[in-house]
Amino acid sequence: MTSDPHVDGQMRNVLVADDEPHIGRIIQLKLEQGPYRVTLVPDGRTALEHLRSGEPIDVVLLDIMMPYASGLEVLQELRRLPHRSDTPVIILTAKGQESDRSQAMELGATDFFTKPFSPKKLLARVDELF
Ligand SMILES: [Mg+2]
Repeated sequence: MTSDPHVDGQMRNVLVADDEPHIGRIIQLKLEQGPYRVTLVPDGRTALEHLRSGEPIDVVLLDIMMPYASGLEVLQELRRLPHRSDTPVIILTAKGQESDRSQAMELGATDFFTKPFSPKKLLARVDELF
């Protein structure tokens, strides 16, 4: 009998912040094929509310261009939170500018994906974190 992560409590919690609903939905559907429970939020402010709370979050995916707070601003803020200082963060950007990538890495991003990206590759990258 194979183990079922849904019943074995091996599910990981992923916070996904993206203001484009169809992109967020694609990411959610892909990750939910793996042992991931996805919380999808549409802006940086809501992402920070989740991050400041004590809820379990094992990995964070942040779009850069979002209302209220950019993904880079959220990243900077979450690295100041003691309980999130080591949480893996993957930055997603539509721009693909090298300055975004270097800034994201300086702020403590774990990885960086340029849109349009392969949802399959994103899932594989998240799998690699664990
Ligand atoms: Mg966006």
